[in-house]
Amino acid sequence: MDYDDLLEKGREEVSEEEGSAERFEMPEVKSRKKGSNTAIENFSEIADKLGRDEKHLSKHIQSDLGTSGQIEGSELVLNGEFRRGHVQSKVEDYAEDYVICPECNRPDTKLTKEKGVEILKCQACGARTVVE
Ligand SMILES: [Zn+2]
Repeated sequence: MDYDDLLEKGREEVSEEEGSAERFEMPEVKSRKKGSNTAIENFSEIADKLGRDEKHLSKHIQSDLGTSGQIEGSELVLNGEFRRGHVQSKVEDYAEDYVICPECNRPDTKLTKEKGVEILKCQACGARTVVE
C-alpha cells in the first residue's frame, strides 16, 4: 500500500462516520407477551442504537407507560400488557427528548448531568439543550 492508498483509506473512514449521523433510523421495538407481562426482546439493541444507558432508557419507558419492570439479560420485561405500537411511541418520544438534537435534528449527542440538570450536548452543531 503506498501513500495515496493510505490517503484514500483515510477519506473513506471519515465519510463513513459522517454518513452514519445522516442515516439515523429509529429502532423498531420487538415485543412479545410473557404471561401477563410484555417483554421487549431487543431492548439492549435499542439502547445501543440510541447510544443511551439501558437503565436510563428503561426508567423513562416505565414511567411513561405508568408501570414498572426489570431488565432480564437483553430484554426489558414490563409489568402488564402493552401493544407494540404503544411501546414504540414511547421509544420515539425518548429519542426525541434525550437523543435527537432539537437544533440540527442529528443524533450525535451526549447526555450529561450538571448540577442535577440533564443536558443534551450536540457533537454536530454544539447546541446545549436542557432536557425537561
Ligand atoms: Zn445539533
